[in-house]
Amino acid sequence: AAGFDVNLVRRDFPILQERVNGKQLVWFDNAATTHKPQSVIDRLAYFYAHENSNIHRAAHALAARATDAYEAARQKVTKFLGAASPDEIIFVRGATEAINLVAKSWGAANIGAGDEIIVSNLEHHANIVPWQQLAAEKGAKIRVIPVNDSGQLLLDEYRKLLNSRTKLVAVTQVSNALGTITPVEQIVALAHSVGAKALVDGAQAVSHLRVNVQAMDADFYVFSGHKVFGPTGIGVVYGKKAILDNMPPWQGGGNMIADVTFERTVYHGAPARFEAGTGNIADAVGLGAAIDYVEQLGLDNIAAYEHALLEYATHYLRTIPGLRLIGTAAHKASVASFVLQGYKTEEVGHALNEEGIAVRSGHHCAQPILRRFGVEATVRPSLAFYNTCEEVDRMIAVLRQLTRR
Ligand code: PMP
Repeated sequence: AAGFDVNLVRRDFPILQERVNGKQLVWFDNAATTHKPQSVIDRLAYFYAHENSNIHRAAHALAARATDAYEAARQKVTKFLGAASPDEIIFVRGATEAINLVAKSWGAANIGAGDEIIVSNLEHHANIVPWQQLAAEKGAKIRVIPVNDSGQLLLDEYRKLLNSRTKLVAVTQVSNALGTITPVEQIVALAHSVGAKALVDGAQAVSHLRVNVQAMDADFYVFSGHKVFGPTGIGVVYGKKAILDNMPPWQGGGNMIADVTFERTVYHGAPARFEAGTGNIADAVGLGAAIDYVEQLGLDNIAAYEHALLEYATHYLRTIPGLRLIGTAAHKASVASFVLQGYKTEEVGHALNEEGIAVRSGHHCAQPILRRFGVEATVRPSLAFYNTCEEVDRMIAVLRQLTRR
């Protein structure tokens, strides 16, 4: 794509020079985690060398530096998601903790016996299990939006599930197992039409697509830093301010209080109310640097480049005898899941690793959607903007060799 030079971009990622089994690493496991540009690595080192302090409480210079860096990162996330205010951005450990926060706080206060929570067949276990736990606790019910044979959600079936008992619709924007891009704007609007709230799992979306939570009108939006070229251990809950301000805290401790006596505690508003204890300050700052990096490349450039690369990979995968693609929706990002007749997915994974190519083989923490397609596991190459057609060719060559044996 114009304005995007993959060879220049690759130089920003030192790990791409690693050798595995004597071969240059091909990282096709981006849906599991992404690599870090030098600017993110440098930002973390700079924080610990020049700014390290706990935040907010102290009057000294380093506390001010650390606080400024942390709050600047919150501002970057605010802009990145198109949120209305940094008060709508809560730092957590990752998408999993983000969904658990919403379930334990908003869910516990707003879901009751007989209420219904809608998820989709595509969900990662992180967007199933917390709702199941909540439903079991409250006597609520989980309902599931089915998919068609391409792995796209069936909106007409979704419409039939909606009713006055529906309190929450929790769906992924991009499926980690199939790569399906779901029509989240429509899904959110339909949820709102029955007075339900909508949570969108953006864990696989923010590194591939331009996201705007206000245009989407999501009530909650969550993602993990490590899947968008930032550090592990940092993630985000976006929530509309009016909703967050009416949610009870989910953890108690320092930072989240305005006043404490032994009789009662007065809590801060959002986001501090939901950030009890010392947070992951350095990694939030690192996430800010990762956002700067992808914004400078441009999400539209990234999406266009990756789209062409995924089409290329899909085209050549289809030429391998006995290969069945799992997930063939018209709108997809990054992921080309497949099974190969006569081979266990681990065998394929090992054959690729022999040649320095990293893919995930397994159930991808999304067992229900794989079972929908009659499989327990797939081989899952997942692409990012630093991958190339030459790398795809190397993967295809291994698969050809394997099926020729
Ligand atoms: N949702 C989706 C769609 C995911 O792909 C993942 C990670 N595989 C998660 C949630 C959970 O993210 P994390 O493990 O970073 O908390």
